[in-house]
Amino acid sequence: MRLESVTKTYGKGEQVVTALRDVTLQVPRGSFTAVMGPSGSGKSTFLHCVAGLDQPTQGRVFLGDTQLTGLKEDDLTAIRRSRIGYVFQAYNLMSALSVEQNVTLVSRLADLPVDEAWLHEVLTRVGMTEYTRRRPAQLSGGQQQRVAIARALVTRPDALLADEPTGALDTRTSQEVLRLFRHIVEQLGQTVLMVTHDPFAASFADTVLFLADGRVAGQLYRPSPEQIA
Ligand code: ADP
Ligand code: ADP
Repeated sequence: MRLESVTKTYGKGEQVVTALRDVTLQVPRGSFTAVMGPSGSGKSTFLHCVAGLDQPTQGRVFLGDTQLTGLKEDDLTAIRRSRIGYVFQAYNLMSALSVEQNVTLVSRLADLPVDEAWLHEVLTRVGMTEYTRRRPAQLSGGQQQRVAIARALVTRPDALLADEPTGALDTRTSQEVLRLFRHIVEQLGQTVLMVTHDPFAASFADTVLFLADGRVAGQLYRPSPEQIA
């Protein structure tokens, strides 16, 4: 993922709000990045631009070699469905559908074949194979978040984007979800980018990106084991 001089403003004239100011950065493939910053610093706008849910006012956004900026809505929707996995804070599961139906919904909407072996693998990874027939209301918050992560992974996206994925979870359940993200990065080689307020959550990432007033105010990198004295 790459942002080139991205500026995003909302509104017009005297009401204009600048959410991102000339942001240039790269998120390497296979990395785990946390985005932190005060409320209103541009975190959600950043995530939405990277997810193709929102278009920058200026500048360009790339997912791999694909430039998302300026794509038609249909093309963006196709990319969102096949190459981006989005995990919402509030899970966004369909209450009338089973776990398995929820997980395969995006593929079915996009007319993509469901790879049964991969579906099983994903459900195993998130520890939900025994719950495939349950409805969301019959699951704990942590289990619902696991289903949301499985749904985001099942299309084999290049990038998993998560908006406050542990915001509604207790510490123990948060830890399970964060370990799952590390596993996804380390074993599946996928890119994970999450917005979080939670320093505990951020401590699982390889890189922590701090936004302030729409700019990248700093970056922290997890030291490699050799660097730790
Ligand atoms: P964060 O996620 O860090 O809280 P946001 O990206 O949501 O920050 O917001 C950055 C700035 O842009 C804030 O000043 C916010 O009020 C403004 N903003 C975000 N979305 C909209 C919108 N749809 N319309 C107008 N202003 C917005
Ligand atoms: P829209 O109706 O805005 O075009 P879609 O039909 O693409 O949205 O998607 C339906 C729902 O599934 C939306 O909430 C969307 O954000 C979500 N979604 C789309 N693609 C994915 C994905 N790859 N992983 C997880 N959720 C997704």
